[in-house]
Amino acid sequence: MAARFYLNWQLQPGPVTVEGAEAHHLASVCRLRPGDVACLFNGDGCEYPARIVEVRRKAVLLEIQGVESPQRELPFVLEVAAPLPKGDRAQFLVEKLTELGATAFVPLDCERSVIHPREAKLEKLERYVIEASKQCGRNALMRVAAPAPWLDYAAQPGSGDQRWLAHPSGAGLGPQVRPQAGIHVAVGPEGGFTDAEVNHGRDHGWELIGLGPRILRIETAALALAAWAALSR
Ligand code: SAH
Repeated sequence: MAARFYLNWQLQPGPVTVEGAEAHHLASVCRLRPGDVACLFNGDGCEYPARIVEVRRKAVLLEIQGVESPQRELPFVLEVAAPLPKGDRAQFLVEKLTELGATAFVPLDCERSVIHPREAKLEKLERYVIEASKQCGRNALMRVAAPAPWLDYAAQPGSGDQRWLAHPSGAGLGPQVRPQAGIHVAVGPEGGFTDAEVNHGRDHGWELIGLGPRILRIETAALALAAWAALSR
């Protein structure tokens, strides 16, 4: 696969000039030279093979040669809601969810949450989505939603989707993945969901899912369920 570069504007066949960090990445990190081919994407679901025309000091000129739409997305919605784990573990979670094909990540605010993400933090998460998409070949970006309080999030009307609430007391995952239905996964904070939060989830159609007799970190529980949902049909 040709090296992939993200541009946040509309792309179409023809000339394009890249500046800033992506130009640096093209010219100095990947050392692409005139005649080489790169793959551009902007999150619209397509990718744009492009030939390098000229490498300048602070800009790279390319010629987009076509539009391709390889199918690398899941054929259903997979949304994962979880409190942000601490430090690098948040980056790890967002990168791996992107690789697994999740449609959206929702930072959850629970009674026992310890991290309350600010705007700057969310921008960073979006950056991790882009970096992971470059690497794994996704052309649609996983959406990073605004932080949502669990009580509101859990009560949103679902349109026939499956709702899985990770909880140590829940039943093990079986063959309950239904073809076609979207899947929403929710994971609690390190201190766990409170009983009231669990009951609220149950009242709104969330099915309690157990992941074995060990207590998992937020990111392990979220990725285990996302992987199951993404790969088991
Ligand atoms: N002390 C908490 C553990 C929190 S771990 C408790 O006993 O509930 C953080 C979150 O990961 C949990 O809220 C849950 O959503 C998920 N999780 C961790 N281990 C799990 C397991 N064995 N089964 C299902 N979910 C689990």
